[in-house]
Amino acid sequence: MTELTALTIAEARAGLAKKSFTSLELTDAHLKAIEAARALNAFVLETPDQARTMARAADEKIATGEGGPLAGIPLGIKDLFATKGVRTTACSRILGNFVPPYESTVTSQLWRDGAVLLGKLNNDEFAMGSSNETSCFGPVVNPWRRDGDTKLVPGGSSGGSASAVAASLCMGATATDTGGSIRQPAAFTATVGIKPTYGRCSRWGIVAFASSLDQAGPIARNVRDTAILMRSMAGHDPKDTTSVDRPVPDYEAAIGKSLRGMKIGIPKEYRLDRMPQEIEKLWSQGAEWLKSAGADLVEVSLPHTRYALPAYYIVAPAEASSNLARYDGVRYGLRVEGRNIIDMYEKTRAEGFGAEVRRRIMIGTYVLSAGYYDAYYLRAQKVRTLIKKDFEDCFAGGVHAILTPATPSAAFGIGEKGRADPIEMYLNDIFTVTANMAGLPGIAVPSGKDAQGLPLGLQLIGRPFDEETLFSLGEVIEQSAGRFKPEKWWTQSSTPA
Ligand code: GLN
Repeated sequence: MTELTALTIAEARAGLAKKSFTSLELTDAHLKAIEAARALNAFVLETPDQARTMARAADEKIATGEGGPLAGIPLGIKDLFATKGVRTTACSRILGNFVPPYESTVTSQLWRDGAVLLGKLNNDEFAMGSSNETSCFGPVVNPWRRDGDTKLVPGGSSGGSASAVAASLCMGATATDTGGSIRQPAAFTATVGIKPTYGRCSRWGIVAFASSLDQAGPIARNVRDTAILMRSMAGHDPKDTTSVDRPVPDYEAAIGKSLRGMKIGIPKEYRLDRMPQEIEKLWSQGAEWLKSAGADLVEVSLPHTRYALPAYYIVAPAEASSNLARYDGVRYGLRVEGRNIIDMYEKTRAEGFGAEVRRRIMIGTYVLSAGYYDAYYLRAQKVRTLIKKDFEDCFAGGVHAILTPATPSAAFGIGEKGRADPIEMYLNDIFTVTANMAGLPGIAVPSGKDAQGLPLGLQLIGRPFDEETLFSLGEVIEQSAGRFKPEKWWTQSSTPA
């Protein structure tokens, strides 16, 4: 029999239904894999007792035929999602040992449908980063290595989610995406990640970074599994006024749909100067695959894309600086005493926030300040409207989805980027931020490898609330590209060397 941790969610679902194994066995296999993979630093908290309790409960329900759509499926949860009674830190010292008295809507829907919590996953502090190096728990290691032994970042901010899924430590994971944090790590680890339309999943109970851009979504090992997870995660929530009240479709049903008559846009502005040849090649190859499956390709223009990154790095820090004002040493987590209340605020925030978070707070408060508001924040909002309009024009012209590379490169080494110049790190998001600025859904699918054997991904951006088309197209790319699995090097052997 195949190892239980190697199964996809769809396969495990079938195996559980046929009673080939129990959820407790499936859960135990994953708990063992997590323990043996601590070198990856993907989990910041393991919850084995809770996992086994949930697995036993799922087994009982499966036995009586009452199991939900995710009955008995073990998942990892990004540490940005509040989990009731389970420490939630956003990987920031300022939250300390915060234990939420409530559950995020997205995770409560996963438990409602029978999923099992394995533990909390590492991420960049408050989801700010593209490499998972800003976490107060230290960097996450990508299961893929360069030249046999160079340790690479898994991307970020959902680096723990991507690494854990790629290394088969969990069957799927929750993640969040403000400027690319689901899609970029998925591309760096040969996993599939989808950022749904803004408003598709509730943001209630997710630690806020930039509220007008944040969306939750799944990372899994194939397109079908992300579709399965999305169905449980999506849905209207009266507790989030930006969540949208429309029915959640059966996303799985979109897989295998014919692409005939579908129009796929290739945006000419995404052909960057000095774009690595292998990315260029991958992109053309992806277009070919969709064409042979019956889709029509058209060149489209998204002229304001070139301003997307600078505008994002004004809007996101502005909203972050406002959202992070609540961490003052009074309400949650860390408090460092001071001579008076102002001194206490200052000391707490200086000690509790890492360098990248402090940088964002400074940029954010600057662009929102009375003297600079018009010059920066207001301008960035205008640019955002133009970016959105570019997409609207494109879709009005009959285009169903847009194909782009997911990232400008494959995964890079830990410590290799952004030390001297943070902008070097920000450039990672060049292909992903537009979807957040326009509120559109985007999926990243593993599509090939670079010259060094590292995975590369392609991105598809869709019309608002048309995630289904992304699943249909994504699966065609996945089938054409084949599966990519990292070599298993991280397992600690129990016998001393
Ligand atoms: N890398 C981007 C940033 O640092 C996006 C992060 C995210 O999507 N959460 O802001």
